[in-house]
Amino acid sequence: MSTIANKSDLHEQMVTWRHHLHQHPELSFKEKMTSDFIASVLQSHDIEIHRGLAVTGIIATVHGQRDGNVIGLRADMDALPIQELNDFSYKSVHDGKMHACGHDGHSTMLLGAAIYLKENNDFSGTVHFIFQPAEEGGGGGRVMLEEGIFDKFPCQAVYGMHNFPGIAEGQFAVHETAVMAANETLNINIKGKGGHAAMPDKCIDPVVVGAQIISALQSVVARNVAPLNSAVVSITMVNAGTVSNVVPDDMQLTGSLRYFSKQVGDEVKEKIKNIVEGVSQSMGASATFESVPNYPATINTPKHAEVCANAAAMVVGENNVLRNEQPTMGSEDFAFLLNASEGAYIWIGNGLVPEDSPKGGCLLHNTKYDFNDEILPIGASYWIQLVQNILQ
Ligand SMILES: [Zn+2]
Ligand SMILES: [Zn+2]
Repeated sequence: MSTIANKSDLHEQMVTWRHHLHQHPELSFKEKMTSDFIASVLQSHDIEIHRGLAVTGIIATVHGQRDGNVIGLRADMDALPIQELNDFSYKSVHDGKMHACGHDGHSTMLLGAAIYLKENNDFSGTVHFIFQPAEEGGGGGRVMLEEGIFDKFPCQAVYGMHNFPGIAEGQFAVHETAVMAANETLNINIKGKGGHAAMPDKCIDPVVVGAQIISALQSVVARNVAPLNSAVVSITMVNAGTVSNVVPDDMQLTGSLRYFSKQVGDEVKEKIKNIVEGVSQSMGASATFESVPNYPATINTPKHAEVCANAAAMVVGENNVLRNEQPTMGSEDFAFLLNASEGAYIWIGNGLVPEDSPKGGCLLHNTKYDFNDEILPIGASYWIQLVQNILQ
């Protein structure tokens, strides 16, 4: 494949940067060395940067030769609290931390594109390269928004990209609208009446109430959500009791709710509330329910998805742009930026499964995952092509 970034010597440089970042992973909002490293590479190429948004965020700005529109391109920078089990030379040297989601590769591709476009700025307008902290649950995108990213750096549209194991190296997937789901945390607190385990008739056992609630919740998606809509309700944490001969006073259930459409999400929450209150009441207990929003759904603007698909096709060929991939019920904090601006978020193939494939097929968040260096020039070239197409 003859990509733009391959024609220069960028590929080799990007591999070096990527391995450095992989070796030094940092968790959400603590990407200090990562941010310093990215800033120093940008500054060594005379690229203007703004630091400090959302603690460690960087906005790098490259102006074209002529005036025009302004767009934002975003990469995430943070790693995960995972012990890496890979055994290559650049494996993590930070115990218990690992780039298991490929954000080392995302930052590197954006860095490569920024440097290429600084040296080849035959375009009209301005590009803000957004290096965002804390994608992995910290909501760095939300914090950047709250700290005024689009007031300080107004953008007509904003674009994101994530690697995707299971999609072949050299392919992209572009969704016309929904890409990733909204994500909320469910908290259910059941209040019963504790006592001696040998005298259950004198107690209101919250554990039995909780078991009934968990069972009943299985019907919410199966029986209340229209078959062609999507939602997930998973109870993932169950906490009650301290000893075998005591019926506890209360029980906590925690879980995860996923959906694409707000209307579906609202309906599901209403049903959960009814079940929690109804089951508890019928068994003499009381209960509270709350759903705490984490990330909204990542929904592309169709016209921008089309612009992204066209740029990807110019890099890898129309046949290698998948347009009918299913969205996933996973979530992504780029959704905060997409809620505040038009734009689109696409997937770049990291390599086909099997999971133990040495290149790119290992699942995200796995202890053996690694970003595929072969796709660095493909992703950087996509960013460059996107800029050249939009800011002609
Ligand atoms: Zn991740
Ligand atoms: Zn990720």
